[in-house]
Amino acid sequence: MAMLTTCEGPWETVAMAKAKMPWYVSEYAVAKYQSTDDTKVQNARKVYGNLFLEAMTWKFTDSWPKGMTHKLCKMAVALDMFGERCVTCDGIGQAVIMERKVTCLHCNGSGKVRYSMRKIAEILDVDRSTYARVWHNKLQVLMRRLAMWDSQVFDKCREIGRE
Ligand SMILES: [Zn+2]
Repeated sequence: MAMLTTCEGPWETVAMAKAKMPWYVSEYAVAKYQSTDDTKVQNARKVYGNLFLEAMTWKFTDSWPKGMTHKLCKMAVALDMFGERCVTCDGIGQAVIMERKVTCLHCNGSGKVRYSMRKIAEILDVDRSTYARVWHNKLQVLMRRLAMWDSQVFDKCREIGRE
């Protein structure tokens, strides 16, 4: 969010910049900068879907289990966009299991999580040493991709600001 404060009127600028960005970057811009609390979760789902599709085209992801890649993408987007919002229950504090509402186990119903290494490993359902050894770097790769999309949004905003 801080990045866009250098743009003239961030919302309008993002709207104009969208027209000049690849669609997946545009959807990222909408989710991160133009969503209200009500629409943010839904828009963020599109973003991690897009990230997942893109990740599947990378040669080095051939050896990543699909289910895990999906979880990593969701995690990356959550860390990028939501700070401490619980990724398991979308910040609601409840999960639905067998059609029954139950308290979310990952945030104990608070809807908030401090994402330590241990917590991320727990959510990805792997032990901590496996996470550190195998998955942490892969999560970083995905987060760098989001950071790249973010800087594309920023660059376009700056370009438009100069026009
Ligand atoms: Zn939760």
